[in-house]
Amino acid sequence: MTANSPHNPTTAVGSADSSEFESALETARRQLTHAASQLDIDSNIVERLKYPAKIHEVTVPIERDDGAVDVFIGYRAQHDSVRGPYKGGLRYHPDVTHDECVGLAMWMTWKCAVMDLPFGGAKGGVVVNPKKLSAGEKERLTRRFTEEIRSVIGPNRDVPAPDMGTDAQTMAWIMDAYSMQEDETTPGVVTGKPPAVGGSEGREEAPGRSVAIVTRLVCEYYDRQLEKTTVAIQGYGSVGANAARLLDEWGATVVAISDVNGAMYDPAGIDTAAVPSHDEEPEAVTKYANNVIPNDELLTLDVDVLIPAALGNVITKENAEAIAADFVVEGANGPTTSTADSILAERDITVIPDILANAGGVTVSYFEWLQDINRRAWSLERVNDELEVEMQAAWDAVRSEFERRDITWRDAAYIVALSRIAEAHEARGLWP
Ligand code: GLU
Repeated sequence: MTANSPHNPTTAVGSADSSEFESALETARRQLTHAASQLDIDSNIVERLKYPAKIHEVTVPIERDDGAVDVFIGYRAQHDSVRGPYKGGLRYHPDVTHDECVGLAMWMTWKCAVMDLPFGGAKGGVVVNPKKLSAGEKERLTRRFTEEIRSVIGPNRDVPAPDMGTDAQTMAWIMDAYSMQEDETTPGVVTGKPPAVGGSEGREEAPGRSVAIVTRLVCEYYDRQLEKTTVAIQGYGSVGANAARLLDEWGATVVAISDVNGAMYDPAGIDTAAVPSHDEEPEAVTKYANNVIPNDELLTLDVDVLIPAALGNVITKENAEAIAADFVVEGANGPTTSTADSILAERDITVIPDILANAGGVTVSYFEWLQDINRRAWSLERVNDELEVEMQAAWDAVRSEFERRDITWRDAAYIVALSRIAEAHEARGLWP
């Protein structure tokens, strides 16, 4: 039997050995309280938003390849659905906890609202190391987990998507398990599927694409030329590699990229297309590097833009004073702790928050959901064009709060999101 503690409040989002402990839920609640204090918003609504609507905890027994049965813990946290069905990813990771799912679900509520998508926020996952599962075990785990949460998901209820440790294939299994049991082919129950079963073109690349678009917009806003901009990116998975390659293509100089083994550093610029992403060849970055530096050192490089695109809680009070970039664009969810966030603000380092920067993922998920419901696929060109339009609109809304109130970009994004959510709560009222 695998020992998985269902409630493990001592595990942080990122490295568990960090001296500064902060769960995703604590960070999310602090950010909410801080943003709400700057906005004339009904305190009763803020109180409601501090708590998730529902948290489903399930056990997922699977037969291992050797015939033994192991039981894993799974969660689906549903935070708020005032603006539409719950929406958010599913994580397969050993650090998944009850509180982490709640915090990440709250971020999804704000992310969907900042992008003005008709969705609420959810997040879930299974406490498991997917690297230790065979393909067959992963499939059995996914199908059984889907069955355990089947009654609480659905195209109009809650729509999962990929996140750390899950991918398009995982979503195809969920879609199949759900459809077989409901006796109805239901592509809209999940997003991030392969295009063959109703997935959208451009979905896989979308979070990285939005990070690149936002980096371009922030450079424009502060009168920096992308051609003269240096970038360091932590993480070379879907978000990091796609952001790196687009920025490289658009003329920026990507000087550092990394994976769990370390970072590749080249002040002259890395040929990002020549280094395989985590999906193309897992953990290969340092194999292709002439000059390897530790991951911690990547974070403090003297570059124009730093993009943390791996785990949460990597910019902490321990290293915030040493961050030398002018701009931090958050590719990962929750890479900056609250204390680090205040230090960066005092030091006049501009932080573009995750709920805006990586929101391309859920935005193209929305496009996918529309395509599924309408049974009509969009071209890659249309997806990318519409993503550009949505990112620009969200950027403009956040920028206008930033300019009007003289606050951080994070607070500005929260204010845009909270105002929309509060308006919907006010209109719907409290039931019963
Ligand atoms: N997991 C992604 C995120 O954190 C995407 C969620 C979705 O597409 O629903 O934004």
